[in-house]
Amino acid sequence: MTTINNNLNAIKKQIKETALACGRDPKSITLIGVSKRKSSDLVSKAIEAGSTNLGENYIQEAVDKIDTLGKSSACWHFIGHLQSNKAKFAVRYFDYIHTVDKVKLAREIDKQAAKIGKVQKILLQINIAKEETKSGAGAKEAISLARELMQFENLSLEGLMCMPPYFSDPEDARIYFKKLVQIQDKIRATGLDITHLSMGMSNDFKVAIEEGSTMVRVGTAIFGSRD
Ligand SMILES: *Cc1c(COP(=O)(O)O)cnc(C)c1O
Repeated sequence: MTTINNNLNAIKKQIKETALACGRDPKSITLIGVSKRKSSDLVSKAIEAGSTNLGENYIQEAVDKIDTLGKSSACWHFIGHLQSNKAKFAVRYFDYIHTVDKVKLAREIDKQAAKIGKVQKILLQINIAKEETKSGAGAKEAISLARELMQFENLSLEGLMCMPPYFSDPEDARIYFKKLVQIQDKIRATGLDITHLSMGMSNDFKVAIEEGSTMVRVGTAIFGSRD
């Protein structure tokens, strides 16, 4: 078996065990293999090994890769920072866009989706630790923003996404995952039905699952470190 095979199986096993240990259905958690800066060859191996969901960060790199591998080879998730002028490509190539954080961006995605008769699945990204270096909406504006995003005909708001700071001890990320869940609860209390929580990476996906993650975004632990 290849390394990717082994890594993928190990992660799937850990997801299953973590879910069962906290009374969750392992099937309610989607493993997104984050393949940024990895070659199409490697990504193709991951697909062969059973990676059904893949995440990419950079539009041009992703477009090249998806053209090579075929759009139907996986469910594609855009998880990088998206500029409005690249929305057209994100809509054409990606099943989910996790990083919507402004009405202006949402409006452009909606426009591009309408052009090709698509309802684009999106997530609202929250800058959960208020880091200056990261994108994402503020927690305070999350509810009003979610309401606004719901108004667009060609957008389907599926959930929330966050990326806490890196901690060597993943336990330290727990408060941020809890915070995202609280925001989700508040949004749901206003009657909006959002189901997904995109949270957890190689280092902290177990903690994220314990807190309710439905989409974990795992790169290094599957594909190896990036140079
Ligand atoms: C790179 C990246 C990941 C994966 O990170 P790893 O630590 O390699 O698992 C997850 N989410 C986002 C938004 C990323 O940019």
